[in-house]
Amino acid sequence: MKHSYDAIILGAGAAGLMCAIEGGKRGRRVAVLDHADRIGKKILISGGGRCNFTNIHCRPENFLSANPHFAKSALARYTPADFIRLVEKHRIAYHEKTLGQLFCDRTAQDILGMLEEECTRAGVRILPATKVSDVSKSDTFVLRTKDDEFHAPALVVATGGLSIPKMSATGFGYEIAKKFGIGIVETRPALVPLTFGSEDVKKYKDLAGVSAEVVASIEAARDKARAPKSNHPQFREKMLFTHRGLSGPAILQISSYWKKGNGIAMDLAPSRDVMGALLRSSAGRDVAAAKAALHQVLPTRLAERWLEHHTPAKWTNQGIEELERSVHHWEVTPEGTEGYEKAEVTAGGIDTDELSSKTMESKKVPGLYFIGEVVDVTGHLGGFNFQWAWASGFCAGQAL
Ligand SMILES: Cc1cc2nc3c(=O)[nH]c(=O)nc-3n(C[C@H](O)[C@H](O)[C@H](O)COP(=O)(O)OP(=O)(O)OC[C@H]3O[C@@H](n4cnc5c(N)ncnc54)[C@H](O)[C@@H]3O)c2cc1C
Repeated sequence: MKHSYDAIILGAGAAGLMCAIEGGKRGRRVAVLDHADRIGKKILISGGGRCNFTNIHCRPENFLSANPHFAKSALARYTPADFIRLVEKHRIAYHEKTLGQLFCDRTAQDILGMLEEECTRAGVRILPATKVSDVSKSDTFVLRTKDDEFHAPALVVATGGLSIPKMSATGFGYEIAKKFGIGIVETRPALVPLTFGSEDVKKYKDLAGVSAEVVASIEAARDKARAPKSNHPQFREKMLFTHRGLSGPAILQISSYWKKGNGIAMDLAPSRDVMGALLRSSAGRDVAAAKAALHQVLPTRLAERWLEHHTPAKWTNQGIEELERSVHHWEVTPEGTEGYEKAEVTAGGIDTDELSSKTMESKKVPGLYFIGEVVDVTGHLGGFNFQWAWASGFCAGQAL
């Protein structure tokens, strides 16, 4: 059977639903197609089930992209304050957890329910469990399923990234781009735990579960050519040992900048003078005193393990200073990442050079739009990825 709409949106996630609402409000006949039986699955699991739906400190610097300027226009047109207004209109209770991150007081279902209600009000048709086998363009776009054909002059690709295949993630958006000759920046897992090489696994795997506040950065010194050129981000947050490597917010954040071969540098005791007392006294310079000093700043098991691997050969000033330096500059070269199975997002994606930064429309293929995570714009941890989904979805919705 043939169905005709003004716009078809592929993917009923955060970006697709926002785009549909805006298009619908402007009187367009909009259909949202999703292959999953349930829409908005990632919204439901996000933020530990409470959806960190935005960040009040959202700035372009919170995003990675081959073109760091691309996201500016959309982020300025639809801001966290705009989304908060929508949340408040629906009387959804929320709170700031930390660092500007806003979470629902109850559950993420509040956000999904709000989007569904707005879609209904805007006359949007949502069609879950609709598997599109082919996308083509003649005078309109044509999307074929087993029994139906959907026609529309505008097609918005909002199929998200590759992260968490269990949550219905596919690479279909990239396939559509390739089919229409649209460039893609190589994708990689981001906001993802990092894995140790075999030596570090041996040294640290039994510390799994231990965490500490650190400052994490990319270690550029050894291999300047491979280090990120744009900036040298640092994240002061928790780091967590796992059985295979490192996780926790600080590691997830820095993982988005990490490329194979890069080292990660960590200050395990930011802004703390750990061995000062030992240096100032000439008596009692031994393992017990160093352990006591480390215990002040690090969890017990980590403090003990640190000393096992970094005990000074001699308890001279130089030896103690080296121990202090080691605490402030732990350099690890991860073997890899936990991959798309564990990654919160996918970095890379549709090359932003191919898109209008105002409307997200393809420069080559009029009527074809890409929004949300499928685009080469990746936010830091903390509500930024949803803000990009809302903002890019809003901008495309205004153009339909
Ligand atoms: C565990 C986890 C927790 C997260 N927590 C947060 C958080 O608290 N705050 C935050 O800002 N970000 C968070 N994120 C990231 C955030 O969920 C994503 O960046 C955001 O959902 C991207 O929105 P999107 O609409 O582009 O894609 P998605 O929300 O992934 O939606 C894509 C939709 O497209 C559909 N689809 C895929 N392939 C096809 C196909 N072939 N045909 C039809 N439909 C298809 C999918 O079923 C899905 O419904 C989290 C991610 C994960 C994995």
